[in-house]
Amino acid sequence: MKLFDLNGRVAVVTGGNGGIGLGMAKGFAQAGSAVVVAGRQKDKNAAAVKEIAALGAKAIAVEVDVTREDSVKAMVAQTVAQLGRLDILVNNAGIAIRKPPQDYTLAEWQQVIDINLTGAFLCSHAAYPEMVRARGGKIINIGSMMSIFGAPYTVAYAASKGGIVQMSKAMATAWAKDNIQVNSILPGWIDTDLTRAARQQVQGLNERVLARTPAGRWGLPDDFAGTAVFLASAASDFVTGATIAVDGGYSSQG
Ligand code: NDP
Repeated sequence: MKLFDLNGRVAVVTGGNGGIGLGMAKGFAQAGSAVVVAGRQKDKNAAAVKEIAALGAKAIAVEVDVTREDSVKAMVAQTVAQLGRLDILVNNAGIAIRKPPQDYTLAEWQQVIDINLTGAFLCSHAAYPEMVRARGGKIINIGSMMSIFGAPYTVAYAASKGGIVQMSKAMATAWAKDNIQVNSILPGWIDTDLTRAARQQVQGLNERVLARTPAGRWGLPDDFAGTAVFLASAASDFVTGATIAVDGGYSSQG
């Protein structure tokens, strides 16, 4: 088997209908994998499937809410029914609610934790039996610079993304015997819908990101294709529980 070849593989990307998720999904498609675009919004899913199929890959859309166990189980069942197997899971679905800790309601806290952290647990839990059946698998969890650092407006987001890294390490140790590798990617500041909203809400953010990022630019969704293919392919078969920053040097700068 060629190191970075994903021919014959099936990849599920939650939140694969836009932003970083779509960047990774396109990388998988280019490496030969079939791709399942899993998100809540049907129209966005359909548009992403079109974009991926244009690269010559097999792609399907599945509507899912990662906070609901029945929905997540249905996503896995639909994947296997339509594409025969599940080899790669990317837990990428995520949201941010920006306000200081004292202004957070319990419902807001719960929503961020449910989508960003519990959703990743539920999807991994549901995918596990299929990966065992395939005699191996790859789980890629999307953290953040907030997996490492804190910031005043990110109390639930930082808690969820710190949790993502520790959950990945725990799963990596539990499932190594099943030949399932579990790793985390930590994006720096990336130009997507999520940060477009932040740039509108937070004055001076654009300039601060440019000044603080050694690469001197915002990241692009396409910047994630290479690392995602590495972590999804045989090239990373002895890499598990690891955390890879894709951040233009942001986390290396003191
Ligand atoms: P987007 O807002 O473009 O993507 C978020 C995705 O999550 C959407 O595709 C959305 O699809 C999906 N989603 C949200 N809630 C749910 C849900 N309950 N069930 C299923 N899917 C859901 O933002 P990004 O591409 O920027 O974010 C992707 C990931 O990267 C997130 O985990 C984010 O925290 C992380 N990240 C982003 C950074 C950045 O700078 N952009 C920096 C660090 C981390 P739909 O609405 O159709 O459900």
